[in-house]
Amino acid sequence: MKAVRFHEFGGPEKLQFEEAPNPKIGPTEVLVKVRACALNHLDIWARRGTRSERIPLPHISGSDISGEVAEVGSLVIEHSNAEKVLIVPGISCGICDYCSNGWDSLCESYKIIGYETQGGYAEYVAVPGTNILPIPDKLSFEQAASVPLVFLTAWHMLVTRARLVPGETVLVWAAGSGVGSAAVQVAKLLNAKVIATVGSETKIDKAQKLGADFVLNHHTQDVPSEVKRVTNGRKVNVVFDHIGEATWEKSMKS
Ligand SMILES: [Zn+2]
Repeated sequence: MKAVRFHEFGGPEKLQFEEAPNPKIGPTEVLVKVRACALNHLDIWARRGTRSERIPLPHISGSDISGEVAEVGSLVIEHSNAEKVLIVPGISCGICDYCSNGWDSLCESYKIIGYETQGGYAEYVAVPGTNILPIPDKLSFEQAASVPLVFLTAWHMLVTRARLVPGETVLVWAAGSGVGSAAVQVAKLLNAKVIATVGSETKIDKAQKLGADFVLNHHTQDVPSEVKRVTNGRKVNVVFDHIGEATWEKSMKS
């Protein structure tokens, strides 16, 4: 099959579009013909060799994958050929205390498809049968591939950790980013009020279309004082900060 691989860690020049062996599936796995694969910053960390001891070489990146089932392992009963699916990127044991309590990313055997395993920059990918989900008809392959990592992250932060509830107000930094745009949609699904920030005027319209109630420009406006004004001095209940040092102090003031 054709695939984009790297044989050693480094810059973008290490990526090679080349012939690679077709993946072989085990009895509990499914072979998926890739129809779309989204990019994620994780792909850059992998290529540069962050936690390189976990990355198999030569390596195929790509964790956000959608496609069609091409072959089903002998022990996989709930899926069949040609089914349209997206791939859940996290592989965990499913039975330890962490997995049983919704903390599967802390499982000792946790792996991300496309990081610690071969991923979706290829014609085919082999994944555990438990990691595929059917795609609703209204979603295209491209739309489905945009969902997994960013929505898992946003959902975990807002629902599992922050326990955001209807009527609360949340500040979402960088609503034009993948994780930020997912957070706006998850927060609106929960009927929260969303104050979103963007880095350029061209992103304001898109943030509003995703459902943001107020949109601030974090380069031209002072976010904490604007948040105070918009909330009549009450400030927000939750800050969705996926940036870090650059925004931490302003998050605390909001
Ligand atoms: Zn586990």
